[in-house]
Amino acid sequence: RQPIVAIDGPAGAGKSTVARQVAQALKLLYLDTGAMYRAVTWLVLESGISIEDEPAIAEIVSKCDIELGMGDEPQAPIRVWINGQEVTQAIRSLEITSHVSAIAAQTPVRQELVKQQQRWGEKGGIVIEGRDIGTHVFPDAELKIFLTASVQERARRRQQDLKNRGEADLSLEQMQQNLSERDWKDSNRNIAPLRKAPDAIEIQTDGLSIAEVTDRIITLYRE
Ligand code: C5P
Repeated sequence: RQPIVAIDGPAGAGKSTVARQVAQALKLLYLDTGAMYRAVTWLVLESGISIEDEPAIAEIVSKCDIELGMGDEPQAPIRVWINGQEVTQAIRSLEITSHVSAIAAQTPVRQELVKQQQRWGEKGGIVIEGRDIGTHVFPDAELKIFLTASVQERARRRQQDLKNRGEADLSLEQMQQNLSERDWKDSNRNIAPLRKAPDAIEIQTDGLSIAEVTDRIITLYRE
């Protein structure tokens, strides 16, 4: 298969933006696995199923059909459909963001989505971004990047994103708390927790521009 670039890291470290630009520059495919967990969370909330009802969630996840597509502009978030319904905007809401970690911690949900991710990536030639790509989904990826930034920096970036989309304006403190809670849940779940793979290269992005981070990854890929 062609090479795989795995990009993992905590919430708001800039993984999506960077992964997408790296994919564009290297003419690779791009997969945002967080969008898949978000889409499933949307479906669960929409169906009125309790987020603790694991068997019912396992059932709808095993039957759901997720499609991802590139937006028109390079900066626009990827487009997402679940069971034919477009949820591109809906999955970015604070409500989805605050429930996604609980659903992503459920074993049947991960088993199903990881299976789909491995199928999408099996030919390689792809940049895949998430929390467990280098550790679980593609532990044999040719290049593994672990993107980090201080929680203050991540909160600032997220606040800017929300502002650009004209969404709820949270204080920096509230945003920091949301990010920290989500990271804590993602790092402390029993299955495939957020971890830096031992062979991943960590890039601390405080003070670096998107272009600088992207260039660094492209250089590493070409080495
Ligand atoms: O990357 P994003 O913030 O969109 O991810 C949303 C959530 O999906 C994460 O907080 C995490 O709970 C879950 N996730 C995961 N494994 C991945 C990608 C995302 O558990 N590979």
